[in-house]
Amino acid sequence: MTTTKPAAPERTVRQWLEDRGVLAEDTVAAVRGSEVVDLMTRLPDGDDLLPLPASDPRALEVLRHTAAHVMADAVQRLFPGTKVTIGPAIADGFYYDFDRPDGAFVEADLPRIEEEMRRIVAADLPLERVEVGRAEAEALFRKRGEPYKLEILHDLPPDATITLYRHGEWVDLCRGPHVPSTGRIRAFRLTGTAGAYWRGDERNKMLGRIYGTAFFDEEALREHLVRIEEAKKRDHRKLGRELDLFSVSDQIGGGLVLWHPKGAFIRRQIEDYWRAQHLAHGYDLLFSPHIGRAELWQRSGHLGFYKDNMYAPMEIEGNPYILKPMNCPFHIEVYRSRVRSYRELPLRWAELGTVYRFERSGQLHGLLRVRGFTQDDAHLFLRRDQLGEEILRLIDFSTAILRAFGFTDYRMVLATRPKDSSGDPALWAEAERALRQGLEEAGTGFEVEEGGGAFYGPKIDIHVRDALGRSWQCSTIQADFIQPENFDLTYAAADGTLPRPVMLHRTLLGSMERFFGVLVEHLAGAFPVWLAPVQGAILTVSEKQAAYARQAGEVCRTRGLRIAVDDGPDKLGAKIREWRSQRVPYLAVAGDREAAERTVAVRSRAEGDLGPMPLAAFADRLAAEAAPPPLVLRYP
Ligand SMILES: [Zn+2]
Ligand SMILES: [Zn+2]
Repeated sequence: MTTTKPAAPERTVRQWLEDRGVLAEDTVAAVRGSEVVDLMTRLPDGDDLLPLPASDPRALEVLRHTAAHVMADAVQRLFPGTKVTIGPAIADGFYYDFDRPDGAFVEADLPRIEEEMRRIVAADLPLERVEVGRAEAEALFRKRGEPYKLEILHDLPPDATITLYRHGEWVDLCRGPHVPSTGRIRAFRLTGTAGAYWRGDERNKMLGRIYGTAFFDEEALREHLVRIEEAKKRDHRKLGRELDLFSVSDQIGGGLVLWHPKGAFIRRQIEDYWRAQHLAHGYDLLFSPHIGRAELWQRSGHLGFYKDNMYAPMEIEGNPYILKPMNCPFHIEVYRSRVRSYRELPLRWAELGTVYRFERSGQLHGLLRVRGFTQDDAHLFLRRDQLGEEILRLIDFSTAILRAFGFTDYRMVLATRPKDSSGDPALWAEAERALRQGLEEAGTGFEVEEGGGAFYGPKIDIHVRDALGRSWQCSTIQADFIQPENFDLTYAAADGTLPRPVMLHRTLLGSMERFFGVLVEHLAGAFPVWLAPVQGAILTVSEKQAAYARQAGEVCRTRGLRIAVDDGPDKLGAKIREWRSQRVPYLAVAGDREAAERTVAVRSRAEGDLGPMPLAAFADRLAAEAAPPPLVLRYP
């Protein structure tokens, strides 16, 4: 066996920074270009290294990944025979996946593991980085009985630099970077357990995952844990059950959503608003079928570029048909149904179109990752000279609708040509230029995601930030010169020629399912009066007011309000608790005095106790709030 250990260059990153006098107390690692390198890495030169302070978000990732090492060490100390796999930093913390002989981990294991981690942190063990030859690494992990590490090692390309990171007795095959010592991990918490397949593939062994998070100080950790608690309370799956909005049934299948009456009511309100605004702003509405011939998807390129997300064909009279993953080809066929003139363009066609896409069962998540969903789709067909203005209008229209639903904070991302794309690079460049110009003129600022576009064109994604500061992608606006080519679309120009139109694809809310899930979490289930299935509940103090309460309910209902009357035998306190838990915007109490004076004592979900008011005033107040929000556009 030969060991080919490369000669170590002279100085560590720490020494380079020290030499230049830029190593500070809070330097956690260093940055070279866009790459983070840890202080233990040896480099032949260090002129272009910049210190990475703890306050940089990238430093948090380094800390969290190191915390994953410490957790893995603690787990192997406490649960002998457990094999390690991988432990990356993720958005809000880190995890490590283990193969434990006695089965998965449970919440009750976590305090012990935390306790052991605290010992490792208190020992302030330095992290040591060693570059080794493949044979040496293999011998080490064979000796330690780590089959997953051996598998990872085997998959590394032949020219890869193999690095080990060691603290104390524990060692991991890892690229890094890491913080210099375990003592840096002062504020951490293990947050949960889950099952996860090795390499995310359900044909592989199920592993035990432990989630955790870490921060540089206690205060930041505390704030984060409060946010997690709040997010748990707002989880749309939990609220969906409690408020009886929707469910998913094993009998029907994962990722296929059942909308219950209240959820369906809210969805219909959203859809009605969506339809009304589209009709008011130059769109026509379409309906299209759920399946189409395989040839259609061949021609559109979906079978080439999108096959993994589509379901297997079904046969009808000897022809293969496919469940639609997208609405585009159907709208294209409407366009092709007759000759189009330049005078008709732009055509703006919208559809609440239900599509079906394959998602692995392990990826399904409530309403956010599903297999069947209704896109609020639109396809626009236009002349090239109309592209700039239309994109500007689309950005304006989309953000105005998002604002109407209470999302006032959003960020725009321009996603450019991906590697596996089709079509003429010049057309791609033109489309990217048009989108970029639209974003610049909209003046909201944007980021660029290189290579993030769809296979047929570049796109703008709009991400909204919710009440907890989390970012969700909803709207997408995609320019497309490829489909008009694939389907040979033309229009009759004024000069008698037949040029190709440009297509724009757009979803605004994304899908009804996903948007509803995001909305439930954003509002914590407290839908505004215009969306709420029950806008107000009239509660009696005793059975003596039953007749008045029913009459009062009738008065409100004749004004188009959605009012419940609770004249049941429960105590008033219990009734208030129940209706509040249902997030009803207004509660109106009717006691003897209110019945005599034809008033109600009103409690608003948003503003608290409003005191007694005449029944008519209560109805006026609700009616004013029941109107859908106006759409505020810059380019009406
Ligand atoms: Zn590592
Ligand atoms: Zn489309």
